[in-house]
Amino acid sequence: MVSQANPTAVVSGAAGFIGSHICRRLVSDGYHVIGVDNLSTGSESNIEDLVSSGAMEFLPQDVSNPVLVDSDVDLVLHLASPASPDDFERLPIQILKVGGLGTHNMLGLAKAKSARFLLASTSEVYGDPLVHPQPESYWGNVNSLGPRGVYDEAKRYAEAMTMAYKATHNVDVCIARIFNTYGPAMRIDDGRVVTNFIAAALRNEPLNIYGKGEQTRTFCFIDDQIEGLIRLIRSSETGPVNIGGVEETTVAALGQKIIELAGSSSAIETKPLPQDDPQRRCPDLTLARSLLDWEPEVSLEDGLKSTISHFRQHLNSSQ
Ligand code: NAD
Ligand code: UDP
Repeated sequence: MVSQANPTAVVSGAAGFIGSHICRRLVSDGYHVIGVDNLSTGSESNIEDLVSSGAMEFLPQDVSNPVLVDSDVDLVLHLASPASPDDFERLPIQILKVGGLGTHNMLGLAKAKSARFLLASTSEVYGDPLVHPQPESYWGNVNSLGPRGVYDEAKRYAEAMTMAYKATHNVDVCIARIFNTYGPAMRIDDGRVVTNFIAAALRNEPLNIYGKGEQTRTFCFIDDQIEGLIRLIRSSETGPVNIGGVEETTVAALGQKIIELAGSSSAIETKPLPQDDPQRRCPDLTLARSLLDWEPEVSLEDGLKSTISHFRQHLNSSQ
């Protein structure tokens, strides 16, 4: 049990993929952690060991409603939001609410407690970018009316709200623009490319490549992402700062790599490219390197091996 003498961090989206890893890291760094989550895309199983051991508290609630915490708070990390393109169609209004009202409530908590605030923003603020790689100074190319508009505009609004709280209320804020991140604790059926491909490869079912598979992404292993986020919130920088992977890879090459690493007999099939799917995405990491002395360290191959091994166990134990 961590006593209240320890610094306290409130994490929204605590039961999700990145949120649960952040909670784990903050607990091991000696923080008293209060996790808040409505379990819309997360799972309590991601944090149940931390909660049952008393290492963290869990508040099951929607952060689009006000979040009340009695104790002092040192850090507020706002990660709550559905994040998979499949969720954009399924939960459009919830996404807009958590980006708008949820960000407002978490900023209000940070203001009331004089806490430092981190917003988990996204590479999606750049839309389908026309500049490569994408520096933080690029304003983006977003279709507000398209299927990704609910998420992209929610995060752009959240960034604007965060900067307004800094300017108006002098809240100590920072913004991380997170690029595609993967690893254990993702939902196997969340619809994102790494989990879709690993699940199909482990079942020897076809991998569905959208379009020709020539679109690119970089993929950041979760341990590197967590290190970047922790360095940012512990710094005095405001950002925004891009945090993501370095190896720009086509989706088709990612599929081949996953088949090979999983020792799978899966075939490749194609499906139509979703509307507004970004054609090229790759972060310019100059700011993360210079301001945070941060660099992703886990190669795509090593990160995929470890993620495949995690999901192999998960699928075996659920059969
Ligand atoms: P996730 O879906 O695993 O986690 C999101 C968590 O937020 C879930 O546990 C969900 O239940 C919770 N949540 C959603 N709406 C909520 C609400 N209204 N109130 C309380 N809890 C709510 O997704 P993730 O990949 O862990 O993403 C975490 C954050 O990082 C998100 O803000 C996402 O936009 C951002 N991000 C992630 C990536 C990535 O590649 N994983 C990339 C860019 C940005
Ligand atoms: N993708 C794919 N097959 C899938 C899932 C995704 O080819 O089963 C493609 C998708 O069209 C996109 C890329 O993989 O170009 C990354 O998709 P993801 O949903 O992981 O995140 P995005 O980067 O689009 O937000």
